[in-house]
Amino acid sequence: MANSSTLRVAVIGGGPGGYAAAFLAADLGMKVTLIDPELNPGGVCLYRGCIPSKALLHVAKLLEEAEQAKNWGIEFGEPKVDLDKLRGWKQNVVKKLTGGLGQLSKQRSVQFVQGKAALVNASTLQVTKTAAGGQEDLTFDRIIVATGSRPSIVPSLRLDSPRLMDSTGALDLPEVPKTLLVIGGGYIGLELGSVYAALGTKVTVVEMMSGLLPGADRDLVLPLHKRLEKLFDAILLNTTVQSLKDEKSGIRVTLEGPNVKEKEQVFDRVLMAVGRRPNSEIPGLDKTKVTVNAKGFIEVNPQRQTAEPTIYAIGDVAGEPMLAHKAMHEGRCAVEAIAGHKVAFEPSAIPAVVFTDPEIAWAGLTETEAKEHGREISVAKFPWGASGRALTLDRPEGLTKLLIDPKTERVLGVGIVGAGAGELIAEGVLAIEMCALAADVGMTIHPHPTLSETLMESAEVFYGQATDIYRPKR
Ligand code: FAD
Repeated sequence: MANSSTLRVAVIGGGPGGYAAAFLAADLGMKVTLIDPELNPGGVCLYRGCIPSKALLHVAKLLEEAEQAKNWGIEFGEPKVDLDKLRGWKQNVVKKLTGGLGQLSKQRSVQFVQGKAALVNASTLQVTKTAAGGQEDLTFDRIIVATGSRPSIVPSLRLDSPRLMDSTGALDLPEVPKTLLVIGGGYIGLELGSVYAALGTKVTVVEMMSGLLPGADRDLVLPLHKRLEKLFDAILLNTTVQSLKDEKSGIRVTLEGPNVKEKEQVFDRVLMAVGRRPNSEIPGLDKTKVTVNAKGFIEVNPQRQTAEPTIYAIGDVAGEPMLAHKAMHEGRCAVEAIAGHKVAFEPSAIPAVVFTDPEIAWAGLTETEAKEHGREISVAKFPWGASGRALTLDRPEGLTKLLIDPKTERVLGVGIVGAGAGELIAEGVLAIEMCALAADVGMTIHPHPTLSETLMESAEVFYGQATDIYRPKR
């Protein structure tokens, strides 16, 4: 194969997958062109996903804590929200990060083209320059498709109304509506619903399945559900939205479900958060051997190479889970494969975090999956009511659990619900990736008093020897 440092590589899409791939390719000496319609790299994650949502969730948490402080003898009075300033702060965070990525592109001599790419064939792209105008055909040795995903829409609930928002519209924070209906009890709906509720909106969440966050273990969801019941006006499970109608006073919604008291209700705004669709409808893709599966994901092998040998695909467009950190790792894997390194994208654990309050995080095997596959596991749970640190934070409702192979004692999965669970899960991911035994986690000295101790104490629970809880001998 050609010396990888002489390769010309195009990356279509400047999200976390795309820029991680472009930067590594440049670091390995390849000649890289990164194409994205925005002014700077960043993609959905930075412009209208992970980053703006977490900035707003930080504010929501502050508002919630200020309210909770009453229990500790501290009163701040009613918060005054300056929406323009809040929006400006959030935008500033986005601008700093995307501007930084623009700088990093320049420093690495990555040619960033603000435009949209279409495929002419397996090695040529037609790039339409969105800002500068004009079109150009560019030829490359390898092409990495990182075009990401977009919000899904329920076709029967299409409505041409500014009151109907997707996640992008909701993150713009056009106003604090009096009432908001969130369609979809997945992580995006719950995160954004929490932001609006903290700002003072009466939020109703509708989920067609029997529980929030379908797919997550129920014992992890329970503490969040309980807290959201207080924060939200209503959580309607097993419920579907039959129709939406734009009226002068709001959107009239018809609901159907066992706990629906009023079948028709009017909401100031509706947020549709029913999942995301991969952006695989790239013009000209059909002129290549690239294949797309029934769900719209581009099919790839463990090196993230498509059926067309010169084309790779990574990130949301290349399959579940649609998460930024998965996209970044795939991007690096594809570039290493292009460089001729012996690599495969075969993680033992991809962490998932729901940044609500409390947060939920899990990695590796879940109890739900173990049950589905009839896999025998031991589950060691440490309730945060026994954690000194959790009590100092007045957040005893959390839970940390390890899923352990009863024969080998290997840690197969970790699940956490509680304040800051998203930061804690990384230790679990490392344990799974390093094939740690429960004893390895239990015998590792964790700092006291921290929530991280709950991982160590879960391992101690497995052996019936947790310092802070009594468990009868097995
Ligand atoms: P994307 O980030 O989707 O970027 C793709 C880019 O390609 C876009 O800029 C797009 O405009 C561009 N593009 C598309 N077609 C073309 C073309 N033909 N030519 C040129 N460019 C093109 N994930 C997490 O891990 N953690 C979170 O906390 C989190 N929170 C989220 C919150 C919200 C509200 C949303 C919507 C998503 C969130 N996600 C989160 C998901 C995360 O944003 C995605 O998984 C991640 O952005 C996927 O990265 P990507 O590189 O595959 O593509």
